This record gives sequence, C-alpha cells and structure tokens, in this order.
Amino acid sequence: MIRFENVGLRYGMGAEVLRDLSFQIAPKSFQFLTGPSGAGKSTLLRLLFLSLKPTRGLITVFDRDVASLPKTELPSLRRRIGVVFQDFRLLDHLTTFENVALPLRVLGREEASYRADVIELLKWVGLGDRVQALPPVLSGGEKQRAAIARALIGQPEILLADEPTGNVDPPLAKRLLRLFVELNRLGTSVVIATHDIGLMNQFDARRLVLHEGRLSIYD
Ligand code: ADP
Ligand code: ADP
Repeated sequence: MIRFENVGLRYGMGAEVLRDLSFQIAPKSFQFLTGPSGAGKSTLLRLLFLSLKPTRGLITVFDRDVASLPKTELPSLRRRIGVVFQDFRLLDHLTTFENVALPLRVLGREEASYRADVIELLKWVGLGDRVQALPPVLSGGEKQRAAIARALIGQPEILLADEPTGNVDPPLAKRLLRLFVELNRLGTSVVIATHDIGLMNQFDARRLVLHEGRLSIYD
C-alpha cells in the first residue's frame, strides 16, 4: 500500500538525511521504525504522511505517485492514513469527545451520525469516563489515548504513531501496545516509531532500523 524505491530526502541545500530507501508497507502489516536520535525517523514519518515529498526516488501511496499528485487529491489520500503525533496536537478548548470527532465534523457529518462510534472508540481506548474532559486535565497517558482515538475515528488503512509510549509508564505502554496489536489484527497496517527497546521486545514484529539515513530491515 506504500512503496519506496531508492528514495532520498534532503532539506534545502543540506546533505541527504535519508539515503536510498527501498521498502514497502504491506496491507495488514505491523512494523516498528527505530534508530538513534537524528537517524531520520521523523523525516521518514513525514514522507509516509505525505507532508514531505522525496527529493530523489519514487514513493507511491495507495498506488498514487506522490511526486505528481495534485494538491487537491492530498486530503482524500491523507484520510486513509491515521497519525498519532508525538505532541498529540489536541485542541485544549475542545472536550475529548469533540477532539476525537473533529475529523468527522470537518467532513461536514452530523453529530447524530457518529456520536455512538466516537463513544465506542473512546471506550475501546479506555477513555469511556473521560468523554467530556478537556485535554488540560487529562494525564499524559490519557492524552496519548485520545490522540490515538482521533487518529482512528476515520477508520484509516494505516496508522502511524510517533513515539506513542514516550510519555507513559511501562504498564500503560504495554496496554497501548496491546491496542495497536489488536488494531492490526482487525486489519489496519501499523507503523510505530520508537526508541523503546523494551516495547519492541514485547512483540515480535518487523523492524525498520534507520542509521544515519540508511535503512536496514529485519523481518
Ligand atoms: P529522528 O526523528 O530520527 O531523530 P529526524 O528525521 O528528526 O530524525 O532528523 C534527521 C536529520 O534531519 C537530523 O540531522 C535533523 O537535524 C535533520 N532535520 C530534520 N528536520 C529538518 C528540517 N526541517 N530542516 C533541516 N534539517 C532537518
Ligand atoms: P524528534 O523528537 O524525533 O527529534 P522532531 O520532528 O520534533 O522529532 O524534530 C526533528 C529534529 O529535526 C530535531 O532534532 C530538530 O531539532 C531538527 N530540526 C527541525 N527543524 C530543523 C531545521 N530547520 N534545521 C535543522 N534541524 C531541524
């Protein structure tokens, strides 16, 4: 569903921070993306989320060549990709419910048509009792789960998560991992960018390892 062929990325006139990447993200697959700080994980996530275009090579997302994609088609493609950002990007003046429902509201859907789905998803991530809470009163782990729910409400075919266990304690990290594994079992492709070796050791999955902009793959 996503294919990289000899992809390179440089910022401005700088050196390439990603060099000659070739790999695929298959439907229903699960992978960790890892590597030391500065290796290019965030940059690779930006390419996967279509917020950067490659400066060399070919990226196809759902069979579309990213380089020649008209701007007008970007939103419909992005909707098929759920993203959990490291800093959550929740809106503080909206409740948990409203934050999670936002992607649907933006599409012009009526609340009556999605209310039950949002509540069910919030229960699934363990926030059934935080529906009306505002983000500033949520704990780090609750914000993390709200961000996950918002990424999932549009039923994306692939979920990208940037350091989803970066701010939570080990028991919650384990619960989050179970959530991602369950999501994958239900058919969604999952890419988790992480430094957390302990987390990766809990689940035997494909590893995409970046080192100085180059990728090694351990299936
Ligand atoms: P990681 O997420 O693995 O820490 P990044 O993708 O953030 O790595 O960074 C890879 C390299 O690209 C680093 O050398 C970083 O300084 C550089 N970099 C990241 N973003 C930019 C940018 N917007 N402009 C210039 N250089 C950048
Ligand atoms: P991470 O937490 O993985 O480092 P970020 O995306 O927040 O993810 O930051 C990516 C890296 O790129 C950081 O090290 C940041 O300092 C660096 N960076 C961002 N913008 C620039 C830039 N314009 N020039 C050089 N480095 C940058």
